[in-house]
Amino acid sequence: MAKILITGGAGFVGSHLAEKLLQKGEEVFVVDNLSTGSLKNIEHLKENQNFHFIQGSVLDEDLMEEVIQPVDEIYHLAAAVGVRQILGKPLKSLLTNIKGTEIVLKEAEKGRVKTLVVSSSEVCGKGDKLPFREEDDRTYGSVYNDRWVYAFSKAVDEFLGLAYWREKNLPVVIIRLFNVIGPRQTGFYGMVVPTFVKQALKGENITVFGDGQQCRCFADVDDITDALIKLMAEKKGEGKLFNLGSNREISINHLAELVKKQTSSSSEIIHIPYEKAYPEGYEDFRRRVPDITKIKNLIGYGVKVSLEESIRKIIEYQKTTL
Ligand code: UDP
Repeated sequence: MAKILITGGAGFVGSHLAEKLLQKGEEVFVVDNLSTGSLKNIEHLKENQNFHFIQGSVLDEDLMEEVIQPVDEIYHLAAAVGVRQILGKPLKSLLTNIKGTEIVLKEAEKGRVKTLVVSSSEVCGKGDKLPFREEDDRTYGSVYNDRWVYAFSKAVDEFLGLAYWREKNLPVVIIRLFNVIGPRQTGFYGMVVPTFVKQALKGENITVFGDGQQCRCFADVDDITDALIKLMAEKKGEGKLFNLGSNREISINHLAELVKKQTSSSSEIIHIPYEKAYPEGYEDFRRRVPDITKIKNLIGYGVKVSLEESIRKIIEYQKTTL
């Protein structure tokens, strides 16, 4: 039985990962400051004697030293969530994402604890050469625009991970997640799928921003957590960066129709101009598609859960919680 730390383990992806690792018989330690994570997400895990929850921040160096010292592996997911949250108040996000990751890596290095750093597709920036490859150049907006704080700070996390690997010999793997969806994800931070499902179930207008022709690739959290665990076990992934997500594109218009159909909802699909949907300074992406060749070649990753199945699971979940 391995001792595994998940930072941000009370969040959406982290709680699914914790559940899966416990099912595999591992001992799981979750550190979460509950800023965006929730006790509700891990409530069902608490009776498992191999599960330990520590409420605290990755910015607390003494705490991180204490929790990292006995563990064998770390999944570092704790981060400021949601680009729109950051607009107008970037400092907290910069500190959480950059300083938090530095503290985790520094403590991990003391015992050479293998660490998987979870990054984001935001790091790819606004390039229009698709699909995004891990090695591609990146284009960001001005530093006067807080919208780019998230992308910059997660890029620094990637640099930190690679530097610890190269200069400190710490086994590190870096993952860029692309639009992960599933039960327990909240629409509170703007995420489109839980938002549409909630609107459809409540019979409210389904709010498509802009012309709705922008596209995304949505990946189910079950496929994603399986891949994270496989990647952690694969020595050849160390010192490398991987895109992780689905490469099946869907427009937001089609997504709205799909959710409406699957919920048998009478909701109307409406279009809201970007100026009304977002705070000033926000730039949406037209398309975002990962090249997943690298992770496919290394661990045989492939999409198993279809978008329809994933939406079905989210509907079931929301019906029990709304
Ligand atoms: N979106 C939308 N209606 C909503 C929330 C989001 O049309 O109520 C759009 C958003 O403008 C974007 C897409 O859905 O084009 C995906 O948004 P999300 O925030 O889920 O992911 P990201 O933009 O980070 O890829």
